[in-house]
Amino acid sequence: MVGAGCYSLKNCIREESNFIPDGVEWIKDYAIKIDPKSYEVTLQKQGRIAYQVLIVATGVTYDFSMIEGLKEALDRGVVCSNYINPEKTWELLQKFKGGNAIFTQPTTPIKCGGAPQKAAYLSADYIRKHGLKEKSNVILALPGSVIFGVKIIAETLMQKVKEYDIHLKLGLAPVKIDIQKRTITFKNVLPNENQCIINDDPKLRTTILPENKVEIAFDFLHLAPPQTTHSFIKESGLTNSLGWVDVNIHSLQHNVYPNIFSLGDAAALPTAKTGAAIRKQVPVLVDNVLSYLKGKTIQNFDYQGYSSCPLVTGYGEMVLAEFNYKNEFTPDPKLKRMLIFDSYKPHWRLWILKKYILPYLYWNKMLKGIPV
Ligand SMILES: Cc1cc2nc3c(=O)[nH]c(=O)nc-3n(C[C@H](O)[C@H](O)[C@H](O)COP(=O)(O)OP(=O)(O)OC[C@H]3O[C@@H](n4cnc5c(N)ncnc54)[C@H](O)[C@@H]3O)c2cc1C
Repeated sequence: MVGAGCYSLKNCIREESNFIPDGVEWIKDYAIKIDPKSYEVTLQKQGRIAYQVLIVATGVTYDFSMIEGLKEALDRGVVCSNYINPEKTWELLQKFKGGNAIFTQPTTPIKCGGAPQKAAYLSADYIRKHGLKEKSNVILALPGSVIFGVKIIAETLMQKVKEYDIHLKLGLAPVKIDIQKRTITFKNVLPNENQCIINDDPKLRTTILPENKVEIAFDFLHLAPPQTTHSFIKESGLTNSLGWVDVNIHSLQHNVYPNIFSLGDAAALPTAKTGAAIRKQVPVLVDNVLSYLKGKTIQNFDYQGYSSCPLVTGYGEMVLAEFNYKNEFTPDPKLKRMLIFDSYKPHWRLWILKKYILPYLYWNKMLKGIPV
């Protein structure tokens, strides 16, 4: 919303000390090593600190090296990312006067998988409302084989794609950005499924390259950077083969070290990495940590992969994708109290939820551990 000029970044920031509960000591330092065998974390300034139970909640870090030219491109010109600086996205969108507006994401898992699409829909709406549609091509290039993993939501999004005349290109992973030429190169990662997803197209200024690659010129480029866990977590031997903290996906307890737990973006949970997911993970994790500390066998295996993606599909409307590990659509029954009975469709009431109610709940309830 900040990237589309309908929320201020200033409103998203609060003083962190106000959210540290009584009885919690906040050590302002940087963890550089975990030794799971001797139950110790090493801090940059303060050295080693022992733990009985460790909760790894370090989120993700960005690996710019996975896309050639990305680091240089983000600092300059018409390339932006809501993951890094949403105010720049808004600035560039207002300067956009036509041409190719490309929205993409990497092959790695990313925070809020739907976020790059939200940027695309809001920008497409902006372009339409500002009379730029006829001279613009909005291109949404995604590495996956579907627009969204939950079928009923995918159907809604496909309708939006049609309504905005978005050029949807599936199976395309960004591999290189040339900031001088203002081109982005994609690799077709699904060559068997998508034989000719993209052609030499003068209108879209595409050039087919060898090795299943295609280069597209851009006048505006928004992307999510490739994401991974922090290297010290990987070096501490806590991650699975894909590099995420190796926990039981229902109890959040580490699969090798029983006194380590993990949740949030860092954890190897096969669901979307969102704050909404963490809201449902926390009670399970807390329950199990308390059992462990009391010397009991942990018993709470209730986390079923709930996650939710508030997909803003245009100014003033939103779809709320709520789902579980099986990609089943699981709308919160409480939505009915807001007279929302079909949250898989764009709705103005969901926009109100996103813009006003969720921030209130986040700051006043969720961060304080009050059930919502
Ligand atoms: C553009 C965008 C849109 C999004 N939209 C939504 C949305 O609409 N709904 C939703 O629910 N979620 C959304 N998300 C996702 C959500 O923000 C994340 O899933 C959530 O913040 C993850 O929380 P976390 O605590 O796991 O990680 P983080 O919030 O990243 O927190 C990790 C913490 O660990 C600290 N840390 C890291 N390394 C160290 C270290 N070595 N030593 C000490 N501390 C360390 C960091 O400083 C940070 O404070 C969005 C994210 C983005 C980027």
